[in-house]
Amino acid sequence: MQPTLASPLRDAVGEKTAKALIEKLDLHTVGDLLHHYPRRYAERGEVSDLGALEIGEHVTVAAKIEKISVRPMRQKPRSKMLEVTVTDGRRQLQLTFFNQAWRERQLTIGRWGLFSGKVGQFRDKLQLNQPDYQLLAEPGELAEGQGADVLAEFANALIPVYPAAANVPTWTIARAVRATLDILAEVDDPMPEGIRRRRHLPDLDSALRAIHQPASKEDLYRARHRLKWDEAFGLQATLAQRRLAAAARPATARPPRLGGLLEAFDAALPFALTDGQARIGDEIADDLAAEHPMHRLLQGEVGSGKTVVAIRAMLQIVDSGGQAALLAPTEVLAAQHARSIRAMLGPMARAGELDAADVSTRVALLTGSLPAAARRAALAEAADGSAGIVVGTHALLSEGVEFADLGLVVVDEQHRFGVEQRDALRAKGGETPPHVLVMTATPIPRTVAMTVFGDLETSALTQLPSGRSPIATSVVPVAEKPGWLARAWQRVNEEVAAGHQAYIVCPRIGEAAADEEDELDGMNFDSDSGRAGGGRRAGDPTLEPPPEDEGTSKRPPLAVLEVAPKLAEGPLSELRIGILHGKLPPDEKDAVMGDFAAHRLDVLVATTVIEVGVDVPNSTAMVIMDADRFGVSQLHQLRGRVGRGSAAGLCLLVTDAPAGTKARERLDAVASTTDGFELAQLDLEQRREGDVLGVAQSGRRSRLKLLSLMRDEDVIHDARTEATALIAEDPELRAYPGLAAAVDALVDPDAADYLEKT
Ligand code: ADP
Ligand code: MG
Repeated sequence: MQPTLASPLRDAVGEKTAKALIEKLDLHTVGDLLHHYPRRYAERGEVSDLGALEIGEHVTVAAKIEKISVRPMRQKPRSKMLEVTVTDGRRQLQLTFFNQAWRERQLTIGRWGLFSGKVGQFRDKLQLNQPDYQLLAEPGELAEGQGADVLAEFANALIPVYPAAANVPTWTIARAVRATLDILAEVDDPMPEGIRRRRHLPDLDSALRAIHQPASKEDLYRARHRLKWDEAFGLQATLAQRRLAAAARPATARPPRLGGLLEAFDAALPFALTDGQARIGDEIADDLAAEHPMHRLLQGEVGSGKTVVAIRAMLQIVDSGGQAALLAPTEVLAAQHARSIRAMLGPMARAGELDAADVSTRVALLTGSLPAAARRAALAEAADGSAGIVVGTHALLSEGVEFADLGLVVVDEQHRFGVEQRDALRAKGGETPPHVLVMTATPIPRTVAMTVFGDLETSALTQLPSGRSPIATSVVPVAEKPGWLARAWQRVNEEVAAGHQAYIVCPRIGEAAADEEDELDGMNFDSDSGRAGGGRRAGDPTLEPPPEDEGTSKRPPLAVLEVAPKLAEGPLSELRIGILHGKLPPDEKDAVMGDFAAHRLDVLVATTVIEVGVDVPNSTAMVIMDADRFGVSQLHQLRGRVGRGSAAGLCLLVTDAPAGTKARERLDAVASTTDGFELAQLDLEQRREGDVLGVAQSGRRSRLKLLSLMRDEDVIHDARTEATALIAEDPELRAYPGLAAAVDALVDPDAADYLEKT
């Protein structure tokens, strides 16, 4: 019987090879092997740049044999050493074999091949000791029956080079693939005919054959396109199923009410809503009035007025008798939100008090570190429904806080909040889950919106409220222009003299123990740094690893607790300086934020706790120390803290990264534009694809091997269109069992594990 994709490997390649492929590469079935795509293709006659080799690396190089010699070894005259010199045309690499003089017959001068081994050094010469190799046969040569074990007759000019493992070199894989393809039954194509025709997709059988044995680059391109399509389609089909399932669940309709809090709030607003706020407000109002849960993502640059949109949504819920929870990423932010919402609502937030408005509710703040009495009071207000709005960190939902009738959850600064958290949240309301609004200030590239956030409807606030001032950003390169730093402190003094305030941001807190912890105190799920699986969510599109770019200096990053005293004694000695970081006791954090907001402090020296949401419109300057230690999106977020009022904002990026390095390029990019989308794109380019897409598979290792968020926007977009239509027609893909299985294999976490894209 001919093997199919589901057959065990041993049916196609024999026991021994199958064992190696299972053990070293975790490939179990014929399908696993055929989805183990070449990493690249060597072209006939192409040579590798031997100058790029590094000692200790395991490499596969393409080169030509230039010289061969056999000589007796000095200590053991009866042993012979075969030395083969290969070249890229400029440099040479020595291959050495002991007591294998017979290889002389294979390794003939002028022959081209792939050589694989660990790079070593002998007397100033780079060498591969006992390398594996694969030589290219001349056409017809193999027919004479010699050397079939090392000579390959590649029919095509493109020779696949596979992600290999120790003892399973690329040509072993190539040979296994070749053997498999020779006997493989024609592969059934699960993709519906109509989609294939509309999207000009080659059939799966030819795509799988061509990606391993492309006849031409054109052929390869088509094969890759088809296999990328399958990945994109699988992902989009799953997302479409999620959206459909979510939409099918019942939710309590919360229509607006005449004469309620929302109406009173709108009447009291000191400004007119921007067009965007009004339009999205209407969208949300309609969503909330529906009998199915809203799942909406609201994007809007820092300062675009998302909070007002959120408050209006929450008030509509309260008006209809429900409660709203607002989740912030940190306790500082949660406290600030509670404070500013109470301030905006005024007497409307003081139900039960003497000066309460006619229609009123209460705003409860619930954070983990609240004093016991305050916590009990807040818990009671949430449970008996007297608090219409409950503000807290993400822990609010995990800590079993009870609500009388939770109708809406608003997640602020959503980039700390992944798919799994969203799922947990939807599960929260039991039979009738709450409506969900997630808000992010980080612009999301379209491809990311369609994948990582593909389960949400999206709206964007594109315009800032009028009267905003631009932020001017400059790089302060202390290596080349030491004088500029003094000038930076002078600028801070000038801003303060003009009645404004400033932030100084440092990458580190400064107490050894404190730095072990994550800055985001409110989030238990975000505190370790594992890449896949639990812990830090691998796929968070904006959570940046600390950059380790070329250019970033090796010393420890500057710390709040070290920088603040130096400034206080030195260049900012005239100013009132406060300190803020995630490890301060909560009441101290509140006190410092309160003092800064009330202008009892001029300067706040802080970590990135101020990154999101901190809103003190009188702050006009920000100096970011060791700016190269931050990622692009993070810098953009940070500087959004200044220029929120009517005075122009200034952001100085202090760095000792030398000009021309990657680190400096990033800073220059941030300085050159305030277009968040442009920066998000740049950010995406610097990130590992697997990290971004990983989230689509609940933190598991990425099975998306070919699809790129950077280059494949069209594929993703088209696949989304087709998948959405097909799922609408046949949600479980009952009419397409093959397709359903393929989708499952791609996304189901219980399906066989695949290799991470390498
Ligand atoms: P975001 O959360 O999107 O960063 P906020 O909601 O905090 O922005 O709004 C930033 C500031 O702009 C706040 O001080 C808010 O009161 C103010 N604001 C919001 N909407 C408007 C508007 N339509 N006109 C003028 N000011 C506004
Ligand atoms: Mg905000």
